[in-house]
Amino acid sequence: MARLVMKFGGTSVADVERIRNVAAHVKREVDDGNEVAVVVSAMSGFTNQLVSWTKEAAVLHDAREYDTIVSAGEQVTVGLLAIALQEIGVSARSWLGWQVPIRTDATHGAARIADIDATLLNERLSQGQVAVVAGFQGIGPDGRIATLGRGGSDTSAVAVAAALGAERCDIYTDVDGVYTTDPRIVPKARKLDKISYEEMLEMASLGAKVLQTRSVELAMVHGVRLQVRSSFDAYDAPQGSGSGTSYIGPGTLVCGEEEIVEQEVVSGIAYTKDEAKITLIKVADQPGVAARIFGPLADAAINVDMIVQNMSEDGKRTDLTFTVPGNDLDRAVAVIEGARDMIGYEQLLSATDVVKVSVIGIGMRSHAGVAQKMFQTLADKGINIHVISTSEIKVSVLISAEYTELAVRALHSAYDLDDDAVA
Ligand code: ASP
Ligand code: MG
Repeated sequence: MARLVMKFGGTSVADVERIRNVAAHVKREVDDGNEVAVVVSAMSGFTNQLVSWTKEAAVLHDAREYDTIVSAGEQVTVGLLAIALQEIGVSARSWLGWQVPIRTDATHGAARIADIDATLLNERLSQGQVAVVAGFQGIGPDGRIATLGRGGSDTSAVAVAAALGAERCDIYTDVDGVYTTDPRIVPKARKLDKISYEEMLEMASLGAKVLQTRSVELAMVHGVRLQVRSSFDAYDAPQGSGSGTSYIGPGTLVCGEEEIVEQEVVSGIAYTKDEAKITLIKVADQPGVAARIFGPLADAAINVDMIVQNMSEDGKRTDLTFTVPGNDLDRAVAVIEGARDMIGYEQLLSATDVVKVSVIGIGMRSHAGVAQKMFQTLADKGINIHVISTSEIKVSVLISAEYTELAVRALHSAYDLDDDAVA
């Protein structure tokens, strides 16, 4: 007997029919003798609707009331799933965040979980009852509902798994696992059996939107093993009371690197289009300039990602290029222009038709030549690199967006990631 947390996202609970399918998945684990807590999101699209009503009521609104409104979607799905479980003979009850309680900090709209008191859940689980817990919500120090930021129910699930000492946290979603790259642009992408927390963090923060980044951080800190699997894998949902015969794929396990025996040097290629490039032409090449540029951007809470400073030809002035999130470009340009006199530059150029392509792998720590292979592969395709950045387990380049597919495919082959079974 094991303790499991199963988490189902918005598309998996999009209507009552799908909620029945979810109930069947839960029953399968209960019938196997497991103690199960389920964490669910709102029906897909529902939270967006709630957010837009809130904005319609007032653009600048009370964040505590925002939380009251946008947490409502999960209240519906926990109740529906509890009923669907009861309908097929599984004892279950719903839990809202405050009922558990899941305590958060005071940051309404983007709260962090402070602690979960698992006493009541433990009691019910050991009586054989399934606990259906609302994702995305908790109770703040002010005694009011607090939400965890969009996509937050992944984080709820991991936190509940940690609090319950669960053996595993299964994240059921609309894809059947984590792939070596985006299968929409590389048909030969392979599903990974295992991936380390650190690699998954890089993938998630680079836009592979399978898991909320924060949930992966939390899983890493608490050593919660995450299994990403599809809730749409062939499964005969039970009619009435009967249990279905199931085929349910194992998905991808996100775990500590010590669990990964045959580590590839590179595990995946990620790309993100949400990048914008700013180049300052002819800034003074003297101490303090970088601080004068990046200080105001940091004050405006704009994240600068990649940076390259060119050699100056005359020793006096140089060009400096950096990237910011695409959404922040207008603000970043305004901030820099506002500080123009203090910084001192001749011209500001900006571009959004760029993409950041990254190769990721913990094997890089012990293997030389990974970056070189990337540069050579891109050079062979005639693709120019604008900016480079590296970390211990990642090499990223900024290239023109028109080469995205060419670059990702070429790199995927170069690092031997192609699934050769796909023609
Ligand atoms: N329902 C929330 C959202 O749409 C939380 C989640 O789905 O994870 O952001
Ligand atoms: Mg989600």
